[in-house]
Amino acid sequence: MLQQTTVKTVENKILEIINIFPSFNSFKNKRLEHLLKVWSGLGYYKRAENLFKAVTIINNSYNGKLPDDRDSLISLPGVGKYTSSAILAIGHNKKSFPVDINVKRLIQRVSGLKLKDDEIEEILSLACKKKISYRSLAESMMDYSSIICKKNSPECSKCIFSSFCKSAFQSFKNNKNIKKNNKEIDFYLINSPLHICFIKKPKFQFYKNFIHLPSNLDKEFIANLNLKNKEKIKSFKFTITNNLFQINVYKLNLKKLKINNSVWIEKSKTNQLALPTLFKRILN
Ligand code: SF4
Repeated sequence: MLQQTTVKTVENKILEIINIFPSFNSFKNKRLEHLLKVWSGLGYYKRAENLFKAVTIINNSYNGKLPDDRDSLISLPGVGKYTSSAILAIGHNKKSFPVDINVKRLIQRVSGLKLKDDEIEEILSLACKKKISYRSLAESMMDYSSIICKKNSPECSKCIFSSFCKSAFQSFKNNKNIKKNNKEIDFYLINSPLHICFIKKPKFQFYKNFIHLPSNLDKEFIANLNLKNKEKIKSFKFTITNNLFQINVYKLNLKKLKINNSVWIEKSKTNQLALPTLFKRILN
């Protein structure tokens, strides 16, 4: 999530989500739309959808209790090897070793070996023969690697492993320039006196489960419109994962036409909709 937004935004959003959905039980009688509305702005909306489906299964099949075995966890939507390991270690304090990108970097640097996630788990399992707090180990390795053994500028002089680390005091290149795909999209803000036009089956597929503003990708839809009087009202850059979009927004005043696939929403009610940040930015 931090690839798409700031730490502060994520922190505030997580608190807001926990406030509205404090327990599995609190999801009962709620629809996905409710979660998407509070999730709006975080991006990665597939995760909200998976979370909603997973909690529904936990409520229906596990009596509202988070399972504590790997097979049950992995059967939940959106839960893979890493997430199940993190839940077992951090949530249930069971012997399990979640290997995220930071932990992997730490172990690889100390050992000087290119290791796969499974091999790192095996090494940690062999190193932890006595019962320990698996929760503390998982959390401290994540924190240590992100605070001390940082990706581009590890703080080797402060590191407790520096006397035997195979990578101590080496320099690591800054690989910040990950190439993004550049794309240009025109969105249409189609206004009637009281309504704004949205569409149900958009070709812009980044925000499944949300209604969309129409774009130039929706060729069949746009073919119904007379674009002669369109007026460009804003233009900005917007990043979604590794795509950098040049967004152009055109305003078009029309009567409230019946166009196949369209949904007209009252202007005064658009702020009550669950909408991703991109559309909020276009509308405001
Ligand atoms: S000595 Fe440097 S490279 Fe090695 S683990 Fe510590 S911070 Fe990382």
